[in-house]
Amino acid sequence: MTDFNLFDMQDLIDYLIEVAKKQKIGLKVCNDWPADWNSVGHAELNLICYNPNFLPAYRRPIELAHEIGHVLAHHPSKNPVNTKSCDEGYEAEANKIAIKLILKYIQENDLQFETRQQLMDSFGIPESMVYSVDKVINSKNTFQYNLFNTVSIDGLF
Ligand SMILES: [Zn+2]
Repeated sequence: MTDFNLFDMQDLIDYLIEVAKKQKIGLKVCNDWPADWNSVGHAELNLICYNPNFLPAYRRPIELAHEIGHVLAHHPSKNPVNTKSCDEGYEAEANKIAIKLILKYIQENDLQFETRQQLMDSFGIPESMVYSVDKVINSKNTFQYNLFNTVSIDGLF
């Protein structure tokens, strides 16, 4: 496995920005936001405000993918991403879409992982999303960790 370095991270961010464009989602890059502000998806506005300064940096792709998930699933957007007042059902759904988007990237780039933990470490997927990772993975009976080409994103691509 190759380490998920900064170049790869930016490549994935660019990929996710392209996904947003293809899905006709507006994307505002908030260059003046501080490092502790999460990116925010506004489904009603069909808009994502992406924070390119967010730290830790390795969380930027999964955060962006998660917000794309909220907008694609038309979730109401009244709260910042990281508050506990967010609806847990919405959060789980956004996480699942985010993980599917990352699996799609892995598939298109022909990347291989032997374990779920390698996958999560490489893409900065937080431990709190492990349940969603398993849900996505187990939704395909034929899935094996080294067979990401069996993954598809239902209805999105
Ligand atoms: Zn959220």
